Amino acid sequence: MTDTLTRRGLLASAAALPVALAAPRVSAQARMRLVIIGGGFGGASAARFARDTFPDVDVTLIERSRSFTTCPYGNLVLGGMRKIEEITFTYDGLARRGVRVVHDEAVAVDPAAKTVRLRNGGPVAYDRLVMSPGIDLRWGAIEGYTEGAAERMPHGWAPYLQPITVLERQLRAMPDGGVFVMAIPDNPFRCPPGPYERISMVAHYFKQAKPRAKILALDAKNGFSKQPLFQEAWEELYPGMIEWRGASNDGRVVRVDPSAMTLRTEFGDTVKADVANVIPPQMAGKIARDTGLANQTGWCPVKPQTFESALVPGIHVIGDASIAAPMPKSGFVASTHAKQAVAAAVALHRGQTPPDPVYFNTCYSHVGTDYGISIVGVFRAEGDRFIEVPNSGGISPRNATMSRERKEEYRRLEAHYADGWYEALTRQMFGLS
Ligand SMILES: Cc1cc2nc3c(=O)[nH]c(=O)nc-3n(C[C@H](O)[C@H](O)[C@H](O)COP(=O)(O)OP(=O)(O)OC[C@H]3O[C@@H](n4cnc5c(N)ncnc54)[C@H](O)[C@@H]3O)c2cc1C
Repeated sequence: MTDTLTRRGLLASAAALPVALAAPRVSAQARMRLVIIGGGFGGASAARFARDTFPDVDVTLIERSRSFTTCPYGNLVLGGMRKIEEITFTYDGLARRGVRVVHDEAVAVDPAAKTVRLRNGGPVAYDRLVMSPGIDLRWGAIEGYTEGAAERMPHGWAPYLQPITVLERQLRAMPDGGVFVMAIPDNPFRCPPGPYERISMVAHYFKQAKPRAKILALDAKNGFSKQPLFQEAWEELYPGMIEWRGASNDGRVVRVDPSAMTLRTEFGDTVKADVANVIPPQMAGKIARDTGLANQTGWCPVKPQTFESALVPGIHVIGDASIAAPMPKSGFVASTHAKQAVAAAVALHRGQTPPDPVYFNTCYSHVGTDYGISIVGVFRAEGDRFIEVPNSGGISPRNATMSRERKEEYRRLEAHYADGWYEALTRQMFGLS
């Protein structure tokens, strides 16, 4: 094993330790009612952790859908490397483990009465509430990009708003020699490396099925996560197929016309697409905004030690909806928020001091067959902000730093670790092992 991989291995095994060791001791008081809204990466992880760690707490998970399709590995569906069924899970495993799973939509929260109102069922009372509702899209932030427009120009960025299969079908139907155009938003948004993994996976598919096709990525930023690694992989695996345009090179899309299949950029260029994937700016899920948890940015400020809302006491906001920079909005990070938020919620309810948190993240990306890259970060709470722990984490090495054989082995191992990460986390959060 290399130094970097050894460090990652240690980080991965350490990830579960601090919160578990520091978890408050179970008391013999009345049963606490912990309610969780949203059964995605944050919410399902919170439910599983709470159920396993605090046997005397009643855990209720409110999730509007009966199954959950993960965003992670959705790009691999586009690349033909995974099937949608392989990334779709039910909540049966959590229910079997004693989580009360309520399939309903939370339509309002009354923080004073400590109740959640459901669309169909009766109100649910809580002592502490954890909210992980994910994102909503800012319709209209790109002129012409409405829910209707998204049917012709899919986003594929939140499976509960639109299944990835809509984009998949369009890509499969696109003629060879066609142009696939992506509009990519400025920060902050869900999954900073996600659009670039998507470019890679679509290129992987084109290379086999439509070798004359082109990809044009129009980006509202001037740089992106793991950029040198992605770009050297594109040169190596998909030469001449991908053009990436940053904001200063007129990459920001400001208007779309779905009937003409055109995208207009900030400085006036009009681009015609055969398939267009528009990923618009985003904000915290509606229930968080409606509850008054979001500030003027559309995201939810939280206390870094506990993930309790900085605006409404008694509610912990985790995952993408929270403001937790420099942590990225990732599924991995949402699952570490979840553990700390649950431990803190229980401690605060019992009048105890919440554990001192350490947060971990690894963002893996698949770039081709047996070709993975990653970035790792370790974060802590410092006063009223999150900080990245200096000299922690790391990023995959560049090609030029290794021999060809070593590079191939490194990329192959990282793809393998990515698969292991996905398998382990999804099995854990959906109560499958
Ligand atoms: C293409 C793509 C690839 C990605 N790849 C990775 C990756 O490789 N690794 C990684 O770590 N992250 C990845 N991510 C990011 C990851 O998907 C998100 O960061 C993660 O899902 C955030 O978790 P969450 O709990 O905040 O939201 P989600 O996982 O989206 O869960 C939100 C849940 O809340 C439910 N909900 C919302 N409102 C209500 C309501 N009012 N009532 C009831 N239920 C409600 C929704 O139905 C949904 O199930 C990727 C994202 C994309 C788009």
